Amino acid sequence: MLIDASMTHRVAIVGAGPSGFYAADGLLRTRPDLRIDLIDRLPTPFGLVRAGVAPDHQGTKAVVRQFERLLTQPDVRFAGNVEIGRDLSWGELQAGYDAVIVATGMVIDRKLGVPGEDLPFVWGSWKFVAWLNGHPDFRQGPDLSAVRKVGVIGNGNVALDVARVLAKSPEEMGKSDIVPEAGEAIAAAPLTDICIIGRRGPEQASFTGNELAEMGRLSRAVAVADPAALAVEAPTGDPTPERLRKAKNLEILRGFSKNVPGSKPITVHFVFNRPITRIEPGEFDLVLTCIGYEGVELPKGEGIFPVGWAKRGPTGTIPTNRGDSHAVAQQVIAWLKDRDLKSGPDPLPLSVDADGWRRIDKAEVASGARIGRPRVKLTDWKVLLDTAEG
Ligand SMILES: Cc1cc2nc3c(=O)[nH]c(=O)nc-3n(C[C@H](O)[C@H](O)[C@H](O)COP(=O)(O)OP(=O)(O)OC[C@H]3O[C@@H](n4cnc5c(N)ncnc54)[C@H](O)[C@@H]3O)c2cc1C
Repeated sequence: MLIDASMTHRVAIVGAGPSGFYAADGLLRTRPDLRIDLIDRLPTPFGLVRAGVAPDHQGTKAVVRQFERLLTQPDVRFAGNVEIGRDLSWGELQAGYDAVIVATGMVIDRKLGVPGEDLPFVWGSWKFVAWLNGHPDFRQGPDLSAVRKVGVIGNGNVALDVARVLAKSPEEMGKSDIVPEAGEAIAAAPLTDICIIGRRGPEQASFTGNELAEMGRLSRAVAVADPAALAVEAPTGDPTPERLRKAKNLEILRGFSKNVPGSKPITVHFVFNRPITRIEPGEFDLVLTCIGYEGVELPKGEGIFPVGWAKRGPTGTIPTNRGDSHAVAQQVIAWLKDRDLKSGPDPLPLSVDADGWRRIDKAEVASGARIGRPRVKLTDWKVLLDTAEG
């Protein structure tokens, strides 16, 4: 629907990740007349779907097709390479828009709070995963050339993601969009052991079944677990879906406990009940901490609506954000109901629009096609911006 911009409310959504897109979707379902700006500090949309979700899980990344459709709507503008707080203040944004949705996510690696965690061979999972996924702020990965033993601290799916990407063979990563330099560094690393370490028992792990089971199907890595740690049951007090998930995890882990360590080039050890109290050189050549994330202080006030990870904290999968964002969209619509339209000039400094992103996308997909991959990501800020300009 083409509209006269001066005759309708303007909503800014800061952060073009899943929760930002779902918020735009929720708004347009009830108020198709709204004018929406989806603003992101990166020249590329999709937040953690592009930069967090593991590069070998292309099926999960396919959700972006629905987000792409929103970008084709004439009243939805993508404004990439615009960082709120740097290029435009939150106050300016509030002054220029009738409502502001904050969908900025939460990706500062949480600290373990133990001696040794600032040693150079200790990496937070976000820094590591952002490197694998070609985030332009994280172009330098760890030196893997002498890494034999890796400690992965944490018992969630991100721990499985990083362990799996390290353990998979180059052939198994062949259809992924891992950045080539990371893929080559992993393939050349002399890896022998990856220990996934949980501070609590296996009945408390937050792995999900499909992701855990995948660890048992890797061509160059065997998954093992100590049977003594598995003599437990899923907590009976948990709600049924949780109990079933945990029982399934235990069943899969008991399968792993029958495997023979060393029967493939890499052994992935599931280690439980091992709280980390310090990190010292010697035991591992690389430690990856996968213990969750923190965010920055966000603006508060009238007409500001947080959503997604920025609102709820770093929990929940991509689909979890949909219901939440749709509910917040309804709050925004209620807030806009009796409000006079704000007038004034367009506050947004436009840098990379949807066409600019499409030029990046096209270039990446074309480079990928030459080597049989979904895409080869552009990772350099200047190259990204030049490509967007065309
Ligand atoms: C490593 C990892 C792997 C994951 N794997 C899966 C998976 O396999 N399956 C699954 O369902 N879920 C997965 N998740 C969870 C999923 O990614 C999140 O649920 C989802 O991305 C949260 O969406 P969001 O929009 O709230 O935040 P984000 O996706 O983080 O998006 C926030 C956006 O805001 C932008 N931004 C931040 N600050 C500013 C600013 N000041 N100005 C402008 N823009 C800004 C960022 O650049 C980013 O694009 C994973 C998460 C991580 C960390």
